[in-house]
This record gives sequence, structure tokens and C-alpha cells, in this order.
Amino acid sequence: GLSERLQKTFSKLRGKGKVTEADVREMMREVRLALLEADVNFDVTKTFIKTVRERAIGSEVLDSLTPAQQVIKIVNEELTKIMGSQAVLLNKADKIPTIVMMVGLQGAGKTTSAGKLARYLKEEQKARPLFIAADVYRPAAIEQLKTIGQQLDVPVYDEGTQHNPVDIVQNGLQKAADDKNDYVLIDTAGRLEIDDQLMDELSQIKAIAHPKEILLVVDSMTGQAATHVAEGFNERLDITGVILTKLDGDTRGGAALSIRSVTGKPIKFIGSGEKLDALEVFHPDRMANRILGMGDMMTLIEKAQKDYDEKQAEELTRKMQENNFDFNDFVDQLDQVQKMGPMDEIMKMIPGMANNPALQNVKMDPQDLEHLKAIVYSMTPQERQNPDLLNPSRRRRLASGAGRPIQEVNRMIKQFKQMQTMMQKMSKGNFNGMDQMMGG
Ligand code: GDP
Ligand code: MG
Repeated sequence: GLSERLQKTFSKLRGKGKVTEADVREMMREVRLALLEADVNFDVTKTFIKTVRERAIGSEVLDSLTPAQQVIKIVNEELTKIMGSQAVLLNKADKIPTIVMMVGLQGAGKTTSAGKLARYLKEEQKARPLFIAADVYRPAAIEQLKTIGQQLDVPVYDEGTQHNPVDIVQNGLQKAADDKNDYVLIDTAGRLEIDDQLMDELSQIKAIAHPKEILLVVDSMTGQAATHVAEGFNERLDITGVILTKLDGDTRGGAALSIRSVTGKPIKFIGSGEKLDALEVFHPDRMANRILGMGDMMTLIEKAQKDYDEKQAEELTRKMQENNFDFNDFVDQLDQVQKMGPMDEIMKMIPGMANNPALQNVKMDPQDLEHLKAIVYSMTPQERQNPDLLNPSRRRRLASGAGRPIQEVNRMIKQFKQMQTMMQKMSKGNFNGMDQMMGG
């Protein structure tokens, strides 16, 4: 991927004591190829390379004590800049409801993203959104939205597939006014390609709904096409922002880098999974860090703070101080980690981990955590509280109870004891546990 290629290029530069103009030019040729291969738009790449090259060849950079770091810093800053520099939040109407129209090609992730957005608004703003089902061409589309509505406890306005989407939207807005919903999320139909019929329908909906936001949903896996689609929709509808989906897949990343420059419209959110909690506010600087393999500690910390149960954290701190951390707490910890999301996604956000060679071939398997839990569940309550009871015959019993090899049981007990020791040290150092580790 892009990230790996860029880092390989930079590691060559880092190995050098002195960096010459020729080194920078050579490096920029490699960066250019990496960007083009990642499907970054040609013009965007050209401008980017030119800017970075000019800044990097400046004498104060090459003559500095740390030229390689300086060059990488410039790349980082310019990547951030082409993605728009700052996060751009959702627009809010002066009076309720704020109307958000989701548009995009079929399969891009409109309906899923509408669901994610509703969940986000409920969580962040205690909002009371209403969905309008305006994709009348596929009965399954309405069912999909209703299922999401049920999961989130968000009402769906629909009139089945027999009515005109423009009328449906009109009636849906009346319903939102009656019920005093503060957000209305309109799920519209898509096509396989941009065509006039689709654009006419969306323009008509826009004309009657006066949406505060027209969010174009684009599939990042479509590479160059994603940027063309964004251009096309923006020309016809003057969109207000973009949701870039499927960034969890093996995507080449080019769309994230091109869309802002090509359309002038901000990416507001990224989708990183099929589940409804897989939505993140798009932060250009954090994305640049991720692309450069520098991790994304900010997002990680936010995730941890959101998902980490405060009561449990206090309880854990107390146990650590009293030197009472046991296997039950261990399982709680595993649960907390699991709540944060897939392990390999989390690891990628830790600086130095994203492309750490030691992790290159390690696939973090969620099953691993399940296996550890299975071993703990095979323990008696006494054993959970006192690992010293776990002699070889008990360990064999655990192995067969959990259906795991004895080596795994031994390794886990060893790790647990290390963790216990570490926690004792931390608590003695008056380290206020997880809370403090997370900067809270
Ligand atoms: P629509 O036709 O634009 O409404 O697209 P849908 O919302 O129905 O999504 C199409 C498919 O893409 C579904 O299988 C979704 O689960 C999947 N999808 C949507 N967003 C994401 C994402 O961010 N990551 C992944 N992996 N899948 C996604
Ligand atoms: Mg849909």
C-alpha cells in the first residue's frame, strides 16, 4: 500500500547522514510513483510533488542537523494541506430540523452511512433524527433502512415503493415538523453510474428540501473513479461534503488525497467498517500521520476514553493499589480492548506500529482474545483470584477445558503475572492507572 511505499522511501533517506538535492529529487520521484499507484489524481500529485520538492530543497532544510526528518515533516504538512488542513464539522441549521441529504452511487454506502450518522448524532448531541426512505427503486433498500432504524431506535418515514421520491420527501419533512425532530436524514437512490435521470431526481429533492448538508458518499475502493464521481455530483448538486467509505478495506487511499483538491469540498467523515459505530470525523492531520505510518494516537485516545467504562477504571485503580488484580479483572480488560474495535485496526493507530516489521505478518485475530477468555472461564473462582494455585495438573485441566494447547495456557499465565507485576509497580509509582495513561 501507499503507506508502506512511502515509508520505505523515507527509511532510505533516514539512513543518510547528509541529504543532498539529488537525494530529495530521487525521493520525490519515488513518492510521485507511490501516489499515482495509489490512484491519487494526476494533477493533485503533480502540484504536491512540486510544492514538497521546492520546500525541501530550501537550504535551511538540507543544511539542518536533521534533514531527513525535516523533509518528512514537509511531506506530512503538505499531505495534511491537500486534505484540507482542518476537520470540517457538520453544518447545523439555525432552526430545527437540520436536513441532511445522502447522495451517491449504488453500493457506495449511503444507507449504512445514514445509519452511522444518526448514531453519531444521537451519541454526540442527544439528537432525535428521522430517516426518510427516498430510495424507492429497490424494496430491499427500504427494509435495510428500517432495520437500521430499529437498531438505533430512530423512526423511518416511508411510503413503500409506489410513490414519487420527491413527494415522499415532502411528506417526510411534514412528519419531522410535526414530531419536532432535530435532524432529518434523507436516504436517496443511487445508480451504477451518474446519469441525468438520477441527477434530475436529486435536484428536485434538493429544491424542495433545502438541505443544510448534501453529503456525497463515495467508496474509497473505487480509486480514481471515486474522484470523478465526486466531481460529477458536485457539478450537478453543489455538495457540501463527502463521506469516504470502506477505508477499512485494502484501499489504495488515493481518494482521500484527491477529493478535496479536485472538488474544493471537505471530506467530513470516513467509514471504516460495516457496523454502525464505524464512522470517524475526518481529521486531515491524523490521516496524514496514518498514511506516513506515524500512527494516530489522538483517535486511539478518543476511542479509549469513549469506550472505557469510568466505574470500571476506578475499580481497577483501586484493585491495583490494593494489589488485588486477578483473572476476573484480566477478562474485564480484554473486554474493554475488544470494545474498542478490531485489534489490527487499533494497532495501526499506535505510532511506529503501523508498519512495524515485527507486526507485518502478524494478523491480530479477534479469536485470540476469545481463547484467552475461554481459558479464564475454565478456572475455578479460587484459581481466578489466586494464580499461584495453577500447578501443572490444573493447567492441563484448563487446557482441555478451553480446548487450547497447554503452551498457550502457560504463556497466558506468564503474561498475566507480568501484567500483575507491572501494575504493582505502576500503583507504587502513584500512577493513577488507565485514566492517567490515557491523559484523562
Ligand atoms: P448504498 O447503496 O449507497 O445505500 O450502500 P449501502 O449502505 O447499502 O452499502 C453497500 C455495502 O457496503 C453494504 O454491504 C455495507 O455494509 C458496505 N459498507 C458501507 N460502508 C462501509 C464501510 O465503511 N466499510 C465496509 N467494509 N463496508 C461498508
Ligand atoms: Mg441504499
